[in-house]
Amino acid sequence: MSVFDNKSLDEQHDLLLAECNAENLRQNNPMNFPSGFFRVESLSGKYVRDDFYCPSCKIHVKGTNHQPQGVKHCGKTETPKVGVGALIKSLGVKSLTYVDKKIL
Ligand SMILES: [Zn+2]
Repeated sequence: MSVFDNKSLDEQHDLLLAECNAENLRQNNPMNFPSGFFRVESLSGKYVRDDFYCPSCKIHVKGTNHQPQGVKHCGKTETPKVGVGALIKSLGVKSLTYVDKKIL
């Protein structure tokens, strides 16, 4: 017995789309990562490392401060801004505090 039994093709299509949309919502950034490079801090506010998250391809790379070659995603390589760009970026501090099993 399946949910598709005795359903028309249009009804089966609608059921499949609803299932796909529900799955996409479940996968859409459940950790609420900031977009791009961000700073990870412990619960006490201590710097832990830099991470990267892309909302398009959903890639999350930990410890980008140890990867000077940058992050490959969406058909491109992105590197953290350095110099003046980094200073300007640091004014609008983008950081995330969360409990990571590896930190504890
Ligand atoms: Zn991407």
